[in-house]
Amino acid sequence: MIVNPKHKKMLDELLEACRQHLPNTDEALISKSFEFCLEAHKNDLRESGEPYFTHPYEVAMIVAREIPLDDITVISSLLHDVVEDTEFNLDILSKEFGKEVAEIVDGVTKISGIFKGQEITQAENYRKLLLSMVKDVRVILVKFADRLHNMRTLQYVNPDKQRRIAQETLEIYAPFANRFGLGRVKWELEDLSFKYLNKEAYDEIARKIKSKRRERESYIKKFTDPIIEKLKEYNLKYEINGRPKHLYSIYRKMVTRNKPFDEIYDLFAIRIILDTPNSNDCYTTLGIVNQMYLPVPDRFKDYISIPKTNNYQSIHTTVIGPEGRPVEVQIRTAKMHEVAEKGVAAHWRYKESKTASDKDLENWVNWIRDIFENASRDEARKELLESFKLNLFQDEIYVFTPKGDLLRLPVGATPVDFAFEIHSKVGYHCIGAKVNGKIVPLDTKLHSGDQLEIITSKNQHPNKNWIKFVITHKAKAAIRKWINKEEEDIIKAGKEIWEKKVKKLKLSFTTSDIAKLITSLKYESPRQFYKSIAQGKVNLDEVLTATKEKEKKDKGQLLGFDNFADIARGDVGGVLVDGKKSGIMYSYAKCCNPIPGDPVIGYITVGEGIKIHRKTCNNLLKISERDVSKLVSVQWPETESSLFVAGLSVNGEDSPGILNDISHAIVSYQNTNIKSININTSNSTFEGSVTLYVQNLDHLSRIIERLKKLKGVYSVERFESA
Ligand code: MN
Repeated sequence: MIVNPKHKKMLDELLEACRQHLPNTDEALISKSFEFCLEAHKNDLRESGEPYFTHPYEVAMIVAREIPLDDITVISSLLHDVVEDTEFNLDILSKEFGKEVAEIVDGVTKISGIFKGQEITQAENYRKLLLSMVKDVRVILVKFADRLHNMRTLQYVNPDKQRRIAQETLEIYAPFANRFGLGRVKWELEDLSFKYLNKEAYDEIARKIKSKRRERESYIKKFTDPIIEKLKEYNLKYEINGRPKHLYSIYRKMVTRNKPFDEIYDLFAIRIILDTPNSNDCYTTLGIVNQMYLPVPDRFKDYISIPKTNNYQSIHTTVIGPEGRPVEVQIRTAKMHEVAEKGVAAHWRYKESKTASDKDLENWVNWIRDIFENASRDEARKELLESFKLNLFQDEIYVFTPKGDLLRLPVGATPVDFAFEIHSKVGYHCIGAKVNGKIVPLDTKLHSGDQLEIITSKNQHPNKNWIKFVITHKAKAAIRKWINKEEEDIIKAGKEIWEKKVKKLKLSFTTSDIAKLITSLKYESPRQFYKSIAQGKVNLDEVLTATKEKEKKDKGQLLGFDNFADIARGDVGGVLVDGKKSGIMYSYAKCCNPIPGDPVIGYITVGEGIKIHRKTCNNLLKISERDVSKLVSVQWPETESSLFVAGLSVNGEDSPGILNDISHAIVSYQNTNIKSININTSNSTFEGSVTLYVQNLDHLSRIIERLKKLKGVYSVERFESA
């Protein structure tokens, strides 16, 4: 219950405004939202020192009086800052006031978020962005009312903020208001912005208008008196105003036409608004005006027969008034006037609203027309409100770079598309992405308004799987190119291995020998054969030994092949078997990836020499159960110059900087290279796995220490298979 008499009076005034201007008023729900708003904002103050609550209240008043559509919009206005500024969330709003209200408040909150901290450099893109985000036209009405009230009370904020908000209003909100046919809102936003952006010019024009007022009014009276007489004769109800020229529009004309104030301002203009449902009366009135005054050729425009794209309708003409001065005359019905001033809010109230359409508003406008022509009034209202859906740029989304630049992408685009859109280098080395500060999988679908940051590492390369989810041509082409190049590299490496080995065994193969061999091994092409060699799928030793046996039958099976596996891995070293350096072929087990310093043990395999495992390797325990005699003791040599791969799993609290922190901690220690990083987040935690190149156990331990010191990291553990 509202006890404070001041609040009671405010609520009464709001309800009265709603009754006057809205088709239906759910007074109980409006009262409830009023109380809710009062309670939710009870501890907050505006910069003016007033209770914060007065802001949503005034916004609701603007919606009810100046751009009235329905009571849901009024309720949403009262609640529009609740989610952003108080502890109440959308679920509560949905429960208390319904899903529609919650969705409108959500939309308003998101739109506001877009502008936070952004430089306004690409106004047109911002307007498109706004449109693409708005699904319910009422979001726009609330947002405009919100902006209008903020502009009306802008004197209380600091000068920097005044300028920023005024600039944004002039560049984005005002043209956007015009687009939606909110003529009155548009000029007020323009004049208020002008006042804060160029106070000197504003004051000067305001002063001059004031000093000329009397002269102007008497001229307009002289001009309109005979017209009024005639209108009365025809029994037409009318309203005539000497149309006020808005300060900003005078200023803009002075600048663009390079003319002094007097020349612009002395162009008199009047507007005749007829209280009639019949647009023919406008033409009757035009006839009256033309009888009185001589029309200026080529200045006649009939926007009644052909409305403007924002549904503006009116007749425009210019005639020569008393003293030979030109006067602009606009003639329209009251309904046309309301549409001109209140735009979309006025549309649904008038069944006959004729609509032309431009591309952007086409769907929306057609929809309204269909509904009005085909449905009964009540159904029309319900359906219309349900489907005031604007999805104007359906196939595009707009996302931000960290610097706030806008990038346009097709719907369904992912962070990888974004990365390639920025630069192919960014795409090629992309290891992770943050959307709105949170790490996300690379195949995440982006939404309009998302802010993206791509994390790169010079050791990262495109993954074949990317091709499955990227959608831009640029990304697809670049990834394919890389996959092809990678394949070429593999083939080249395979060929080198082959040639080295052949040379070592002092064999010689002619091209046709190779072709025969390849065919006998059932490979389709030499490329495939070399690729298989590089991938370790061909037992080259067997193949070549068979060939060589023809010459030297007594050669041992393993002899001479000691460096094969190592070439493929890129490391050539030598472990000590039973304390001695031996020529025996060996390689490191992939299941546990031992690194120098790890206690290791060898396992003798068939055909692959000795596999070096960590003593703790689970896999080794299993296989050695079968035959313990195959275990052989091995030691690391004193110096080992190769790099080894080790894997770490890192867990902790998800925070925007975490991926950067982890990679920085690794890379900044002796230029350690990262092979890969994967991070998955759920709720507020992350689980990451990192593989990196280290020299030895000491090197790895240092890095583990560094990672453990990072803020938000809970645990760092080495894992076996990388
Ligand atoms: Mn607000």
